[in-house]
Amino acid sequence: MNITTEGIVLKSTRLGGTDRVCTIMTEAHGVIRAFAKGAQNPKNKNASSTAQFSSGQFTLYYSHDKYTIDEASCGQPFFALRSDICALALAQYLCELFAEVARTEENAHDELRLLRGALHYLSAGTRPHLLVKSAAEMRLLAWEGYAPDLLMCRECGCFECDTMYFIPSAGQLICSDCAAHSGGHVTGAALGKGALMALRHTVYSELDKLFSFSLPDSSLLSLSAACEQYVKAQLDREFSTLGFYKAVAMQEIPQ
Ligand SMILES: [Zn+2]
Repeated sequence: MNITTEGIVLKSTRLGGTDRVCTIMTEAHGVIRAFAKGAQNPKNKNASSTAQFSSGQFTLYYSHDKYTIDEASCGQPFFALRSDICALALAQYLCELFAEVARTEENAHDELRLLRGALHYLSAGTRPHLLVKSAAEMRLLAWEGYAPDLLMCRECGCFECDTMYFIPSAGQLICSDCAAHSGGHVTGAALGKGALMALRHTVYSELDKLFSFSLPDSSLLSLSAACEQYVKAQLDREFSTLGFYKAVAMQEIPQ
């Protein structure tokens, strides 16, 4: 059976000889693994279009639970990532995150748009890295069954206060008064009003407007820390690419 779908290569790994296996975020089937025969050979027709971050149309052959890439009509629209080590490292983390989380076909169309948008802004350098990171993390998790409840304080129902806390393990908010009354039993990532509004935006905004917000650097750091804690708590795993990104970003503060 042949399938044609839009996609982005999340990961490209050399197999024995000249073959490759690619992890691809596809519009039709979510994340899949597909073999690319001979693609390790630079003269192969699919050599460049099966490299990481390649984006375009894939024609796949599906048989016995395996995908093989017949043809990949892909470009390298995010080529500028290669000239910014920090953006490149973050893009690699997002690819690893999508490969881990984007499993359902139901949201695959929008998830591909989400990834394409994130890679575009990282490549173009027109949005702060932490903004792109936070928005992509939260929206992807929300679509894949990890939607937090950001409407109000889980104890008293208040909508906002000067400092709200986002509880990563529960995906809920608690206001500073209720947190104080808990006797220190409830802790979370502290968010000022701007960071709280931005966190709500990452989950509830229209996709077209997802990356269209701005925050002062200090609020962006709060937002990013909250999102990162949420990913860690919900997925219960570490990402080696995230560790690398943070090591690189440390050299380039502020970002
Ligand atoms: Zn409260």
